[in-house]
Amino acid sequence: MARILLIGLAGDSGCQVASLGLHEALVEILAANEPVYAPTLIDAKEIPADIDVALVEGGIRNTHEEEVIKEIREKSKVVIALGACAAFGGIPGLANLRDGGQLMELIYSNHRGTDRGTIPTHLESLPEQHPIKHFVKVDYTIPGCPPEVTDIAGTLTSLLGGKEPPVNMTQVCDDCPRKRLGEYDVNLKRIHEDIPDPDRCLLEQGYFCMGPATMGGCGAPCPQSGNTCEGCRGKCLEVDDQGLAMIDAMTGLLTQLREGFDPNTYSGMLYRFTYAESMISELARRK
Ligand code: SF4
Ligand code: SF4
Ligand code: SF4
Repeated sequence: MARILLIGLAGDSGCQVASLGLHEALVEILAANEPVYAPTLIDAKEIPADIDVALVEGGIRNTHEEEVIKEIREKSKVVIALGACAAFGGIPGLANLRDGGQLMELIYSNHRGTDRGTIPTHLESLPEQHPIKHFVKVDYTIPGCPPEVTDIAGTLTSLLGGKEPPVNMTQVCDDCPRKRLGEYDVNLKRIHEDIPDPDRCLLEQGYFCMGPATMGGCGAPCPQSGNTCEGCRGKCLEVDDQGLAMIDAMTGLLTQLREGFDPNTYSGMLYRFTYAESMISELARRK
């Protein structure tokens, strides 16, 4: 009987809720194992010792979360980064495009929706949002925002059965049924700027679809429903940086890239979920 922890750090509980979506599989897992700490399921004040599998949602933005992840690592045999925030920094990682002080000023002093001049100081904030791997060794990653329930179930049942979880070597395009014709002579645009052909590859039509640079396994629900892939499962296994892989995929294709593409304009799309682990954020950190 494995002792399981499920916790949320700097996230929005979406990954924990996705875990509850395991339905019958969750009941089987809970019946065969022991959830020892899971604030969304059971009341427990202290993180116990001797955890077998720790599922951690959310990244690290303050010193309390840093202490908690280090404590979890010390007490756990296996640590799993659950979802994009824990694995790559997620959408909150885009805050790293600005200096922490500037960001607080922007949000709490210069924004119409907040009380000007009142900057909260109660949290020991870190200068940046981090994926948990910046502080501790991570054994496995379940990507996505939120992760696919089948991925959570597959990883947990493999690990609890003493097997290695499956590794996904595909990209989102592999699962996408849209037709690719090999013709790309169009300008770059976002999905709200025109009405796409419902059957053709969105990227071939010039829409900013992150499918070629994103790990597959989700079944490509976004392009199938008429939206671009935003890259929530992070980079494909064989590339080092999701945004650079996407630029590489597009360079030969789109007119606008050949005529002066500015990555800064598109950083929120190239790195919507992975800016905190990107090479350009690493370079910015070293300055
Ligand atoms: S990965 Fe997405 S669903 Fe999970 S905590 Fe982050 S924002 Fe929420
Ligand atoms: S780029 Fe997007 S629309 Fe085109 S095949 Fe890949 S996932 Fe589908
Ligand atoms: S298609 Fe892209 S954005 Fe949509 S779930 Fe899959 S990886 Fe995430």
